[in-house]
Amino acid sequence: MKPFLPGPSILLVFVMLGVVLLRSDVPRVEKALTVRAPVAVVMRGNALRAGDAAETPRLHRAHPAGMATPHATTTSKLQTDPFAPVYIVTSRETHQGIRGLVRAAVARGDSTGKTLVVAETRADRLGEISHYVHTRERRCGGYFAFPTRAEAEAFVGADRAKQAMTKTVLARYTLDNQATVDRWLPQVQERRLYDTINHLSSYRNRYYASTHGKTSAEWIRSHWQSIAAGRDDVTTELFTACANCSTQPSVILTIRGAELPNEVVVLGAHLDSINANTYTDPNQLAPGADDDASGIATLTETLRIALADGWKPRRTVKFMGYAAEEVGLRGSNAIAQSFRAGGVNVVSVLQVDMTNYKSGTVTDMKLISDYSNADLKNFFLTLFDAYLAPRGLTRSSTACGYACSDHASWTNAGYPAAMMFEAGGPGGSFPYIHTPQDTLATMGESAQHSVKFAQFALAYLGETAKTAGARVTGGPAQVLPVQ
Ligand SMILES: [Zn+2]
Repeated sequence: MKPFLPGPSILLVFVMLGVVLLRSDVPRVEKALTVRAPVAVVMRGNALRAGDAAETPRLHRAHPAGMATPHATTTSKLQTDPFAPVYIVTSRETHQGIRGLVRAAVARGDSTGKTLVVAETRADRLGEISHYVHTRERRCGGYFAFPTRAEAEAFVGADRAKQAMTKTVLARYTLDNQATVDRWLPQVQERRLYDTINHLSSYRNRYYASTHGKTSAEWIRSHWQSIAAGRDDVTTELFTACANCSTQPSVILTIRGAELPNEVVVLGAHLDSINANTYTDPNQLAPGADDDASGIATLTETLRIALADGWKPRRTVKFMGYAAEEVGLRGSNAIAQSFRAGGVNVVSVLQVDMTNYKSGTVTDMKLISDYSNADLKNFFLTLFDAYLAPRGLTRSSTACGYACSDHASWTNAGYPAAMMFEAGGPGGSFPYIHTPQDTLATMGESAQHSVKFAQFALAYLGETAKTAGARVTGGPAQVLPVQ
């Protein structure tokens, strides 16, 4: 075999590439410094009593994290075994395209009558599978991942998507909390959204099986905890009861409902990131500024404004940063399944995954039309038309396919969930997804598009959780027990 001897011009390209990679690895210190410093707040015991149905089941409370250090050294023991078997559940259509990457595929049906495929693959092939879904199907995700075939089969066997997507199981969503929402919307600050995205994208990656993936999650927990300082009805937790999330926890902040504590409203985004070309490398460069630091920033700004207002909800609210979304919706699935097993009464779920990219003449937001709840989708449109359209914003909708983001975990578990997605570009979605170029620089060094999503999330929060003590016309949610 002829050895490859690079010529001078090729060497120059490599040197320049190295400089570019090093440059993009340097955090913008002057901007990072403006991020509110996380404060190690000592947990004030269990604000929720043991046995309180609103408490997150099976949570492992960890000690409050200190200041995370971006670019901390990655230990090699976290290296994912590239040949480790992974069992995926995907659609028949996606399976057709990835047949060469999986083995021992079997067809199964879900509760909606859709044909799904359970198949075995390897950890190092998940990147190629994702690449196929991105480039050929022009969408994200595409599968759920499990450590054993038995768990993948059990997941399909227990599927409750039909229940979750039809309208009979739901809360009666109402629009009657303008007093709160109208006060909140002008308070969204682009600068704060920018700072959170900037901090999170300054980690080398937030890959689920790297030390950065763990420390960045712990930073989110600390940051949320500092925002909630002084509130004894708010707790933060690290959710680690996920068998295939490696060392990455999910983060959950809970505001206990003052009047309807057993009815739970969820706002979620995933906290991990990935580089599709170096899929199993714990040292991969994956800033993930849009995907999905922008979603975490959207939730963080929503939380900040609600708590700065002294707001107390009627219903319990849970803000969630999900682990390991990019490798098969693992964190959100573990949470949704544990909530179902614990009988937690989740009345609605908002997913925000990518909120800060817009290019050209496209609508400001897209409602994801599939694998979500019919009533909740309609309510999202009602919220948009009531609160965002008057501000000159426009909407459209699009399908994103099977298992495209964490709302699908809730749908599978039988809970009403829906997702609002960024505008993207005229040709489709964000061109730098899952690359080292997913940075604020490729989004115009601005978080202006996330401002709209924070406003949407505030409208959702105020109108689904409602304000304690306020006169509301909707009454308690009508929610059937989760079976
Ligand atoms: Zn994402």
